[in-house]
Amino acid sequence: EIKRIWDIMNSYYDRFVRTTNDNHKKQVQKIFKKLYEQGDIYKGEYKGLSRLVATIILDPGCSIGAHVHENEEEIFYIIKGTATYNDNGKTEILNPGDSCICLSGQEHSIANESENETLEIFAVILTY
Ligand code: MN
Repeated sequence: EIKRIWDIMNSYYDRFVRTTNDNHKKQVQKIFKKLYEQGDIYKGEYKGLSRLVATIILDPGCSIGAHVHENEEEIFYIIKGTATYNDNGKTEILNPGDSCICLSGQEHSIANESENETLEIFAVILTY
């Protein structure tokens, strides 16, 4: 789905960059600064529907098993720890500062496979 959106936006993808990468941070800050300066980002109130806005804490060895989101989407942001993330069957390791989205119809799971470090995630589920 993401690749289809990139194609629509006429963007190409030839390398993988973590959101924690310094150059990525600089570029994102530059984009957000420009959006803020031209008035596209402003303080307001979210009026859409959601069913979850929470910080989730997973102790070592704990997980949220694989499940599918239908007619809703979930966004995870890693606050602390290391997450083993299953993104539609593809496993990724997520670190603090990384985020991911599970769109409607997609499957995901998240696990803390660490021996002794707590995993803290900020999660939002938006419904349609
Ligand atoms: Mn979920």
